[in-house]
Amino acid sequence: MIRSFIEVEPESHFPIHNLPYGVFRDKENKEPRIGVAIGEFVLDLAVLDEHGFFDSTGIGGKRVFRQASLNPFMQTGKKVWKEVRSIIQHLLKEDVPTLRDNWDLRNQAFKSQKDIELMLPVEIKSYTDFYASKEHAANVGTIFRGKEKALMPNWIHLPVGYHGRASSVVVSGTDIYRPQGQTKPLESDQPIFGPSKQLDFELEVGYFIGIGNELGSPISVKDARDHVFGFVLVNDWSARDIQSWEYQPLGPFLSKNFATSISPWVVPLEALEPFRVKGPIQDPEPLSYLKVEGLNSFDIHLEVFLKSKNMEKPQRISKSNYKYLYWSIEQQIAHHTITGCNLQTGDLMATGTISGPTKESRGCLLELTWRGKEPIQLDNGEQRIWIEDGDEVIMTGWCQGDGYRIGFGEVRGRILPPKELDLHNKKHLSFSK
Ligand code: CA
Repeated sequence: MIRSFIEVEPESHFPIHNLPYGVFRDKENKEPRIGVAIGEFVLDLAVLDEHGFFDSTGIGGKRVFRQASLNPFMQTGKKVWKEVRSIIQHLLKEDVPTLRDNWDLRNQAFKSQKDIELMLPVEIKSYTDFYASKEHAANVGTIFRGKEKALMPNWIHLPVGYHGRASSVVVSGTDIYRPQGQTKPLESDQPIFGPSKQLDFELEVGYFIGIGNELGSPISVKDARDHVFGFVLVNDWSARDIQSWEYQPLGPFLSKNFATSISPWVVPLEALEPFRVKGPIQDPEPLSYLKVEGLNSFDIHLEVFLKSKNMEKPQRISKSNYKYLYWSIEQQIAHHTITGCNLQTGDLMATGTISGPTKESRGCLLELTWRGKEPIQLDNGEQRIWIEDGDEVIMTGWCQGDGYRIGFGEVRGRILPPKELDLHNKKHLSFSK
C-alpha cells in the first residue's frame, strides 16, 4: 500500500489514494488557488506549478491552478488529469525526497485546512438532476399514488431527470433562507402564500462534466466515463408543499430552485475506480443506447446527520449507499445527450435522492417520516417531520479501503428563518413620497 510522508489517520477522508481538488484561499492571502486535500492539509498546486513540476504535462506555467474555479484545469482533458494526479501522488510518497526534504517548498506549498476557506470549486454552467434511485422513486410514488402505481410506466425504461438551476448551487457551510411561495394546503380550496412548511433535504451524489460534447453529437454509454472529472456530495434542498402544488405538468420549479448545497472537495473518478461494483439488475433490459456492461456503480457509504439549534452534536438520521442507484452515470450521460444536447465543462449532474431497501436508508425526510406519519425522534426529545428553522443538515460519504478511506468530506447547510419580504414595495413607495 502506498503511503505519504504526510501523516494520515486511517479514518481520514484524504489519504494519498484520494487527492480531491478544491478551490481555496488563505485567511490572509485572499487570492483563490487550487489545491488537493491530504490529511489535515491542503497542497497548493499553484506553488508546485511555479516550481515547474507540471511542465511535462504541457500545462506548466499556464496558471491553470491560480484560478477561482477548476474549469480551466477540467478543460485540459482526461490525459492531463491523469498525468497531474500521478505527479502529485508521486511527490507525496513517503520514499520520494523531492518535496519531503525541501522544507522551503513545503512551507510554501502546504497549508493547514484550519487556515483556509474553501470556495465553490467549479463555475457551474448547467445543473441537471436525475431521479435514478428505484427505492426513492417507488417510495415517493407509493406515498402519493399508492403501492399499485408506485413507479410511473416510463421509470424502468429511462433515467428520469429535469434541468435544474445552476445559479443557486452553493458551497457547504452556506446558510439557506427558508423559501416562501405558493402552496395549496389539503384543507383549503384556494392557494395561499407564505414560508414553506415542508422543507426537506435530498441525499445525492453529484458529478462534474470535465469535457463536454458538440451540439448534435451524443455521448455513448461506452465513452461517458471519459467526460467525467469528479464527484461531490449534493444536498438538493426541496420545498415539498410548494412542489406538490406547482409540479404538474412540467415538474418541479420553485420548490427546487432556491438552493442546492455541494461539498467543496471534488473527488477524481480515478480515486473511486477501486470501489466499482455491479449496479442492480435492470429488468426490463434497457433500449440499446442505454445498455451497459460490467461494473457501473460504486460502493460509497452515505450518511445524513441533523443538528437542531438545541442539540450539542449532530445525530445520524439516514445511512444509505451509492450502490443502490438503478441508473448509472454512464446511462444518465448517454440519455441526457441522445438528442444531441451538448454538455459543457463545469456542468453539474446529480443522481437524485439515493435511498436503499431499508427504512434507515431512506434519503430524505419525505420518505423517512412517510410524509409525516412516522416522525423522527431525536435523542434530546425533539421530533422532526420536516426541517425547522435553525436545523443544520450534514451529509458525508466515503469508500472503505483496506486501512484507508476515500472520503468526500462533508456538505453542511443550516436553515435560517424566512427573509422578511417587502412584497408591495412599501419601502420604495414611502421613499418616493
Ligand atoms: Ca433532487
